[in-house]
Amino acid sequence: MSKTVSGNHVMASGFPAGAGGRPRGAVCFTFDDYHGGNWLNALPLFRKYNAHVTFFIVGEITPEKAEVMKQLQAAGHTIGLHTLHHRCAPPFIREHGETRYIEEEITPQLNACREYGLAVRSFAFPNNLHDEECDRMLAPFFDHLRAGRASAETALYYPLKTMPDKCCLKGTGIGAYYNSRLSDLKNGIARAGETDSVLVFFSHNIGPREKITPIDTPVEWLEELLAHAGGLNIRMAGFDELDDLKLSIQESSYASGGRADN
Ligand SMILES: [Zn+2]
Repeated sequence: MSKTVSGNHVMASGFPAGAGGRPRGAVCFTFDDYHGGNWLNALPLFRKYNAHVTFFIVGEITPEKAEVMKQLQAAGHTIGLHTLHHRCAPPFIREHGETRYIEEEITPQLNACREYGLAVRSFAFPNNLHDEECDRMLAPFFDHLRAGRASAETALYYPLKTMPDKCCLKGTGIGAYYNSRLSDLKNGIARAGETDSVLVFFSHNIGPREKITPIDTPVEWLEELLAHAGGLNIRMAGFDELDDLKLSIQESSYASGGRADN
């Protein structure tokens, strides 16, 4: 099941309802590992702000996990994979080779997804570790890869209009472990809008501050960030929507003689 909808679909769902003006840029919130219950609990919050996000699943795809993945996908979010055993790709490949990494970490999850009818086009590297060789190795299996950066000050912005069809996007961590500051994260979101670029965040669990670990997103922060992006009319899109977003921007640019985004 691949998405074949037109750019109009993304224009309708990929930016906040009710906000005025033309949407600019996109922020991609991504959540790694597996926190099915709490991720499902966060669905009403995402719906409230018309936000789509991406979940990268680690471990065996059990029937229960597949059911959660289907529910997340049915709510408009992107489902991606994060390996079977969370093994770091570069050192594993140096020691054992690419074939074994694909066979032990990638193929079992892909086969399970196929069995459950789950379409998957995105992947996040365990511990964000990757190199160009790893990107090349996974290109036949996924469209979008995700790695990471440490802090908001060094965040990377990917111009939507020129984003490659296949690419590795480096995200900024949200959580105490990543020294996140709400003001930096908000400034980053604003900059993504100003530059019509994609900004990627990564985190893990979602919950009240007293119930999560330092690599997770406090739900209070999440709501503030979603509201901030919505208020600035910045899209909140899943990885699977990026191609359509790019197309819609290129089309609107052609339609107006290339001046639409200036
Ligand atoms: Zn992970």
